Amino acid sequence: MFLDIVKMPLKGTGGLDYGCRIVRIFRMNCFLKVYGCQMNAADAHLVSRLLAEAGINQVSGSNEADAVVLLTCSVRQRAEDRAAGFARTMRGEGKKVILAGCMGRLRGKELIDGGIADFVLGPDDYRAIPSLVLGKSALPQRPSPNLETYSDLLPSGNNPVSASLAVMRGCNNYCTYCVVPYARGPERSVPYADLERQIRHLLDKGIKQIFLLGQNVLAYHREGMEFIDLVERVARLEGLERLGFLTSHPRDLSREAVQRMAGIPQLLHLFHLPLQSASNDVLKRMGRGYGIAEYEERVAWVREAFPDTYLTTDLLVGFPGETERDYQLTLDAVDRIGFDFAYMFAYSERPGTRAADMGNQVAVPERKRRLAQLIEHQNAITRRSAERLVGAEAEVFVTAPAPRGEGAMLAEMKNTRLVILNHNTRLGEKLKARLVGLAGWSILAEPC
Ligand code: SF4
Repeated sequence: MFLDIVKMPLKGTGGLDYGCRIVRIFRMNCFLKVYGCQMNAADAHLVSRLLAEAGINQVSGSNEADAVVLLTCSVRQRAEDRAAGFARTMRGEGKKVILAGCMGRLRGKELIDGGIADFVLGPDDYRAIPSLVLGKSALPQRPSPNLETYSDLLPSGNNPVSASLAVMRGCNNYCTYCVVPYARGPERSVPYADLERQIRHLLDKGIKQIFLLGQNVLAYHREGMEFIDLVERVARLEGLERLGFLTSHPRDLSREAVQRMAGIPQLLHLFHLPLQSASNDVLKRMGRGYGIAEYEERVAWVREAFPDTYLTTDLLVGFPGETERDYQLTLDAVDRIGFDFAYMFAYSERPGTRAADMGNQVAVPERKRRLAQLIEHQNAITRRSAERLVGAEAEVFVTAPAPRGEGAMLAEMKNTRLVILNHNTRLGEKLKARLVGLAGWSILAEPC
């Protein structure tokens, strides 16, 4: 609990001013903990705003908190276990626990019955969080209508020069291993007028770089606008210097869209195209809607239009029925394509998904072996991709102080590749830098 002393004006009848009195207001302290993807990170800013508007004080550690809000992830069992463990500890310390997000939506009653949380909410129910923290109301009675976009809320963020904004929520794809459509509901795109209002608000606050987010951002469609129309329109807003987007389903990337993107000077040259597997059999059972040839065709379009593309991907090994040969096809494709970076995972059964009921599950130790080998393989490629840049010059955009190193700053190249800049300067500055070496995978840079 946090004690605030405020002056309250005293008004008489007819609005006569009788001065003011001092009152003490007790504010709830709330700790917000976020697990999972970029969407959850962006949602955390929405929740922060809702808490602030309700007069709830947000604290940076759980020790001083009266209530703890968890924005959870259900993509893998490990993410759920971590959130459940933290929630249990917090309840053991007598704190009110509100478990929100994907895990809340998928495992609601079970979490309450198991004593893990006081309240559980899905990703469409964040507006209920402040009243639950304040103890004013119970859970919403109706199931969530899957229509929420939060587009009336003005976004806030931690970084003074860079922000992310969800332009669509949910997913209609039902890839057979994925819980997102069950947890986050069907696709909904935010109306352009709301997005423009949110983006102008961010630009007025000094934001220069914006990432448009969606579970499958390329599926954006609203009022006759497709995603590429949206990108072109947003890029024309005055004051916006850098514009990126995440995450793209490879199937939905068209050649025309890539060519139109190449004509947008503010666009960042980052393409995150989750491949998952390079075996057509596995891709078919995953329900991904493309084969490896179509995937590589899209990579070629992107690299032709943006020769300095930072190409990243997601890879999933040990999917049910994945043979050693299927797995080798993925290793071969990783060599051939040369991703600059990859997020790599072993398959994790998610209850309720079609893949969880497939026969031929790969034994867990074998999944782990494949993952460890893949990581070693890709890490060498990632390192070579960074090494090739040493000696080059690049324009960089300064985004944050470097976590270690006096006076050094973190900065991003046009393709969002991160560098550690040996130069103390203000956030949001753009400057020419020489890439002088590596520290681990991090690129070291000096101003030119
Ligand atoms: S596209 Fe597939 S993997 Fe991505 S969120 Fe939708 S269902 Fe999940």
